[in-house]
This record gives sequence, C-alpha cells and structure tokens, in this order.
Amino acid sequence: MGTKSKLEYIWLDGYKPTQSLRSKTKVVEDFSGKLADCPVWSFDGSSTEQAPGGSSDLLLKPVALFPDPARKNGWLVMTEVLNPNGTPHPTNGRATINDPDDDFWSWRKLMYGLAGALKPDEIQAIAAQLYVEMLEAGYTAVAEFHYLHHQPDGRPYDDLAELSERVIAAAREAGIGITHLPVLYLAGGFGGKPPAEGQRRFLNAPERFLRLVEAVRDRYRGNAEVAVGVAPHSLRAVPPAALAAMLEAVPATMPVHIHIAEQTGEVEQCLAWSGQRPVAWLLDHAPVDRRWCLVHATHVTANEVRDAATRGAVAGLCPTTEANLGDGFFPAEDWRAADGAFGLGSDSHISVSGIEELRWLEYGRRLVARRRNRLTGTDGVRDLYLAALAGGAQACGRPIGRIARGARADLVVLDGDAATLVEVPPERLLDALVFAGNANPVKHAMVGGRWQVRDGRHHARDAIRDRYRAAVATVRSRL
Ligand SMILES: [Zn+2]
Repeated sequence: MGTKSKLEYIWLDGYKPTQSLRSKTKVVEDFSGKLADCPVWSFDGSSTEQAPGGSSDLLLKPVALFPDPARKNGWLVMTEVLNPNGTPHPTNGRATINDPDDDFWSWRKLMYGLAGALKPDEIQAIAAQLYVEMLEAGYTAVAEFHYLHHQPDGRPYDDLAELSERVIAAAREAGIGITHLPVLYLAGGFGGKPPAEGQRRFLNAPERFLRLVEAVRDRYRGNAEVAVGVAPHSLRAVPPAALAAMLEAVPATMPVHIHIAEQTGEVEQCLAWSGQRPVAWLLDHAPVDRRWCLVHATHVTANEVRDAATRGAVAGLCPTTEANLGDGFFPAEDWRAADGAFGLGSDSHISVSGIEELRWLEYGRRLVARRRNRLTGTDGVRDLYLAALAGGAQACGRPIGRIARGARADLVVLDGDAATLVEVPPERLLDALVFAGNANPVKHAMVGGRWQVRDGRHHARDAIRDRYRAAVATVRSRL
C-alpha cells in the first residue's frame, strides 16, 4: 500500500447574489504533489444551484495546488467548474476574466529580468548593435534614457559611471550622436513607495546621482557628438523634494526628460496621491520649459495640452512602442493646434525606423478620428516632418535637425533609384518617404561630417553584429 493523500477540491457554487465556497475530499495513493497529477473530478451540481436535477454532473478542473497546512498529506486543490462538455459553466467567472497580466506592467517585469542580468561588455555590444541599426535607418542622433548604473546586486562599479561609459562608447564606435540621460530613480511608486527588486541597478541617492552626472559631463565636455542631460524617471520614481533639489543642482541648460502619463493606471495613482493628474502636477510644481521633454504624455486633458505646449516643452513620442505596450493615443492634433513641440523616437526599439514612427503618429490619429489627413495637410507631411526634426533637436539639446551654419553636418542621403521614390516630384518626396512602402531608402548617413553609412551599410556592421550575437548567446545561456 502506498501513502494516501487527501486532495480537497474547492470550487465556487451557484448561490446568488454571493457564491459560496464548496469542497469535497478525494483520496489518492502516492500523489506526486504536482498540479498535473490532480485529475478532473465530477460533482452533482443539483445541490449547489449549478444544475437542475436529472443530468446534473459537472466537472471540477484543477487550476492551482497548495499544501494543506491543517492536514498531514493534505492538499488544497483550487478548481474551476466546467460543463460536462468541458466548456466553462455560467457560474465560472474566472473563465471570462481578461488576463490582466498581459499589459505594460507585465512587459516591464520581463524587461527588468533581462536588464538585471546584463554585464558591462554585453550592454556595450547590445547598444552598439542598436546604434548601427539606427544609423542605417537614417537616425543620426539618439536621446538615451540610461537606467542601469550599478552591478546586478545593486552595488556601484568601481567607476560609478561605468555603464554610462559603456553606452557612450557604443555610440562613439557606431558614430551616432548621443544625448545621454542618466535616470534618477528613487522610489517604486507615488508617495515614496519602496523600490522593487528589479530596480536595484537603477537606484542612486540624490548626492551620488549628481556625482554620476558630473563625472560623465566632465569626461565629454567639448565633445560635439555627446551631450549629457538628466532624466528624473517619472513622478512615480522621484518624490517632489528630490526632483526640486536635483533640478536646482544641475546646470540650467541641461535637457530634462521625464516619463509622464503613459499609463491610465499611473494617472489614477497620481490623482489618488496628489489630487492632480501627472502633467498638471508637474506644470504646477516644476519649472517646465523648453529644455523639458515629456516622454509619452499619452493621457492628457485639453488643459494639460494647452499649458504644457505653452511652456515650450517637447512631447517625446514613440508611436511604435506606445502601440506595442498598449499605452493609448497621444492627442497629437490638439498638441499641434496648440503649437506644441514634439520629437520622435523608438523607445523600446521594438521597431527602429523614424519613418515608421512618423507614419504611425499620423495613422493612429486617422484610426481614432476615422478621417484622413489629421496631422498632414494639403502640402503633405513636410511641416510635420520638419517639426519632428526641430522638436527632436530641442529634446536632444544639440544643434542638429537642420542644414545651417553652426549646426552639425548630420545628413541622410536617400536612394534615388528606390522604387517608392523614382519619378516622384521633389515636393512629394517626403510623402513618398513616409507613407510608401517598407523598403529602407536610406543610402548614406553622415554624422558630424563623417560618413557612417555608405550604400546602405554601416562601416562596422559585421563586426558589431558578430559581437552582439556572442553577447546575446551568453545572456540567453544565463537567463
Ligand atoms: Zn517609454
């Protein structure tokens, strides 16, 4: 005789208005302790308001298993109620719940898992690969939120700015212009909630953060391809006093980037915490002006749009990432109508194409309004394109985005033989570029007077890709 185990099958009955817990015990021999070895069981639903008399057998499908703290060899088996044909019974509310875990926050958890494991040379290899892809796609500059400061266990590296160095080194080997934005991360939620495990590598007390910013600034002073700004991560992560003190301590010319109002959950938490929505709170409590970039700013009211645009802040929009994460739509027509500046980036790099960002900025608005030409006008995409360049340059805090004396020679040459561009009149070239086809028509890309991409290829594409491949293999083997 083997050991007998008592499996207590637990389910919700059909009583209204409030369902009650029901249970019955199944005795099994040599139970493995695994959910997979809990059989589907049946019960008579006529006594639980779940079936009329007659054909009243219903099924209990085990969905979770816990040791029973009260009984030796006992287990608690949580079950769902199914009809005899295996479909969910009407009293089974669980079957119809939309899985709430599949959203921005679950993505963030996965992303933290990866970010927590990366070593400095791997970070450099991954960043360099990205920057090569960006250059080949026609981006000549990047503003990089930089979260990872410390070792996986949270202790600083011997060089406090080790990982800033790695990211900037990647930008320099690829040859892309960079606005490096060390992230200030202090709390795990509004009201100074303690940070989560996955955020260990991000954290700096305000004093150490300032030392880090200062160190990076000193090293790249006078380098025209590298600018340094600050990124108070969000109102969730930076309490008011720390935000004010940090802004006070850094030079008044530094770009300031902050994530804001990306998620409705964040707006609700901010309202509960302060009585104000995130953008309204920020405008009331921080010296927001042209040096500020409000990243995403997805969930804003008409007043917030008007006030933030008037202050001169750039909206940092990332339509492909906002779509990928299910954030929502930024009210871009209202923002443009209020003369708001905006820049485009890819954020999570789910896609690396400025063209796609611009296309989806317009297409998203068309889908919402069920009309065409929301941000584009009678002369096409030209104004929108130029506005994106100007706003992007403003957010980067570097003299880029235009061909002018004193501006960096960042130039992109398109392939005049690309099928989407041939025979297109000059005044329609930008429209063809943004809206037609998916082949990448970037032929050459120059940054600061140096060609980094020629004939569609970055000069170090293969070497950087091989190093990236090796880094990804190592990281995968560790996860
Ligand atoms: Zn983002």
